[in-house]
Amino acid sequence: MCRGSGTLHDGPMTQIFDLEHTEHTEPDLHVGYLRDVLDGEIVVPVDPHWDEARVAWNLSVDQLPAAVALPASVEDVAALVTYARESGLRVAPQGTGHGAAALGDLSDTILLKTERMRGVTIDPESRTARVEAGTIWIEVVEAAAEHGLAALAGSSPDVGVVGYTLGGGLSWLARKHGIGANQVTAIELVTASGDFVRTDWANEPDLFWALRGGGGSFGIVTAIEFNLFPLSEVEAGILWYPVDRAAEVLKAWRSWTEDLPDEMTSVGRILQLPPIPEIPEPVRGQSFVVVQAIWSGEPSEAERLLEPLRALGPVMDTVGPTPVAELWRLHMDPEGPAPGSGDGGMLDDVDDHLIDLFVEHVVGTPILSAEIRHLGGAVARRSSQHGAIDSWESPYLMFAVGIAPTPEARAAIDGAVARLREMLAPWEAEHTYLNFAETRRKARALFSSASYHRLRRIKAIIDPADLIRSNHPIPPAF
Ligand SMILES: Cc1cc2nc3c(=O)[nH]c(=O)nc-3n(C[C@H](O)[C@H](O)[C@H](O)COP(=O)(O)OP(=O)(O)OC[C@H]3O[C@@H](n4cnc5c(N)ncnc54)[C@H](O)[C@@H]3O)c2cc1C
Repeated sequence: MCRGSGTLHDGPMTQIFDLEHTEHTEPDLHVGYLRDVLDGEIVVPVDPHWDEARVAWNLSVDQLPAAVALPASVEDVAALVTYARESGLRVAPQGTGHGAAALGDLSDTILLKTERMRGVTIDPESRTARVEAGTIWIEVVEAAAEHGLAALAGSSPDVGVVGYTLGGGLSWLARKHGIGANQVTAIELVTASGDFVRTDWANEPDLFWALRGGGGSFGIVTAIEFNLFPLSEVEAGILWYPVDRAAEVLKAWRSWTEDLPDEMTSVGRILQLPPIPEIPEPVRGQSFVVVQAIWSGEPSEAERLLEPLRALGPVMDTVGPTPVAELWRLHMDPEGPAPGSGDGGMLDDVDDHLIDLFVEHVVGTPILSAEIRHLGGAVARRSSQHGAIDSWESPYLMFAVGIAPTPEARAAIDGAVARLREMLAPWEAEHTYLNFAETRRKARALFSSASYHRLRRIKAIIDPADLIRSNHPIPPAF
């Protein structure tokens, strides 16, 4: 594989490492040199702000890396990768830590947090965005909305754009425009060798393919560019029903999803809201079955399409005109770091029996939210232009999560989620979605067989020593 031109470790730093190179079997944390050369920061366990530095967005994950790096530039990233390689350490890139639960033991690893590398540039002419590594979705959504454009953002305002997109990226517009990874036009990264590479259709097309859905195993992404869509308002909102009607409402919702235009995306969901101040008064401490619906087609059509759900008599109905820049509120995700534990899987079918089991194993358990997202449409369509996730044939995706502020709470939620997944196992698809897998899965469970083998071959070329570690690693093919 030929490399891009800007080899950032050519220069004084490489010379120092070449002169002083030794084989390390234990992590070597002589970071004085890095402190001199980095514009950003390196934090080690003896530093007073160690606990602050190592925290993940998911507060239930206790990250104990060898060091935390907070690079401020591409040059910093290259220096850190080279340092890690020469010191016998590995590097785990992290944008926010939304996906930290599956990372595992970090004791031989520098946790490279990209949160200081922020920036969004919108090009209204080409309808594209360029964002730096640590950018979060709300920053892109708001910048794009100023030009009447929409990004394929997910449900949460502060998920990292890079981590989300490398893993696939399931947005409220996915049935219309496909997953986010397949709308990427270029990705820049520092590879395990310390080289800076720009990948796109013409440069390093294999690596470009792997990055679009294969996750964070292939290098430290420093910037990403992707398409935007002319859309400033949708019809969106939530239909709320009493939780004791959960089976009836979810069955009606499932039937309704069977024949919908691609412009309609929806979620059937059970919410068991705790009595905490973060939850708004009218629903605090109560349980509901809800349908969240987003319609990006002709506004007048929404009324007709939603009629069967409204005929069920929701106790609250908030569906109406919604600016795209406000869509992140729809799913009521936490607006900052939170302790959570959950897991999910793709479903090959959702029939009445599954819904009965789903309701029985969610209602009354510590699960806060158990949702079934409707897929199909553009995410089910194949294209030779797509990356490592070509298409998902499974028509639905399940995810269940609870609040886990203590180990006891976490154990209770994990038990409930594991039981739910066990009950739904006969319907669970062979492959699941990387970004919704919060427990470690074998890489072959996340990709089609052809993609899995191709990803492993590319990993073996770009990072044979497995220096870069992802929350869902691709092992090099040997
Ligand atoms: C509340 C919540 C809501 C969510 N909603 C959605 C949704 O609607 N749709 C959806 O598809 N997903 C959703 N997700 C899942 C989310 O997309 C994944 O957790 C994703 O990995 C988060 O990316 P991050 O960068 O924020 O997290 P991180 O934990 O920082 O990163 C996750 C992984 O991404 C890779 N990565 C991150 N940055 C880089 C980089 N610079 N270079 C290389 N690799 C990198 C690494 O492998 C890392 O382990 C949600 C998650 C949460 C917690």
